[in-house]
Amino acid sequence: GDGSALLVVADLHKAYGGIVPVNHVGFTIGAGKVHALIGPNGAGKTTLLNLLSGHVAPDSGSIRFQGQELAGQPAHRVASLGIARTFQNLKLFGDLSALDNVLLGAHRHVEASFPAALLGLPASRRAEAQARADALALLADLGLGERAFEPARSLPYGLQRRLEIARALASRPKLLLLDEPAAGLNPQETHELGDVIKRIQTAGVTVLLIEHHMDLVMGISQHVLVLDYGALIAEGAPDAIRKNPRVIAAYLGAD
Ligand code: ATP
Repeated sequence: GDGSALLVVADLHKAYGGIVPVNHVGFTIGAGKVHALIGPNGAGKTTLLNLLSGHVAPDSGSIRFQGQELAGQPAHRVASLGIARTFQNLKLFGDLSALDNVLLGAHRHVEASFPAALLGLPASRRAEAQARADALALLADLGLGERAFEPARSLPYGLQRRLEIARALASRPKLLLLDEPAAGLNPQETHELGDVIKRIQTAGVTVLLIEHHMDLVMGISQHVLVLDYGALIAEGAPDAIRKNPRVIAAYLGAD
């Protein structure tokens, strides 16, 4: 059956002059699931993600996240409520280590309890040490443990994309938004990305990803949303979406 709703979008609308990338869209993000947002180039997927993360303000409509209204809230407020995201283009600090890139994403997360070994340190040093330990554990979870002290730019591109996901996870989000995480990845890296996203889901984080790579979408998502010219033309389980004539005509058939 359906899990509980984490995010409920209703009648969300955004226009730029005559272009309407998000046209009165409504859907629900179920807690604990991996959701995919697909559709042709220019359909409005990134704009929709920008609305959810607070990077763009809607003209109208509602985005309710755990009962709180997000529509019109700034990005930092949305992030503090537990929604993290990545961008289509990498936004890493190339000169900084992988660890420092993750620590920069961790600002929101403040540990309430500390291991006994850290109790002798001043509070600020304890918090810093705890943040480093958390970030190192996160990097290890994502298979980046051995690269923690390398500059971000020295990592292979596939691992840079993964580091960007690690940085987003450092804020301990409840919902992770990924904008084309497989862009530029080779088949092996794409396969590994699928495993990473499954692990993130297993850790209890709900995921919404924009993705053009259909094998990845069909392999890891439980719910697919299809956008075309700003309108939600279909949604449902991957198998049903793959066979949906409207989706095939608008998107899948074109591949
Ligand atoms: P792609 O798969 O190519 O990334 P997309 O589905 O993410 O595309 P969007 O990037 O959301 O689509 O763009 C949807 C439409 O909205 C496009 O026609 C785009 O040019 C337009 N658009 C997006 N942002 C703006 C803006 N700030 N000002 C004007 N038009 C915009």
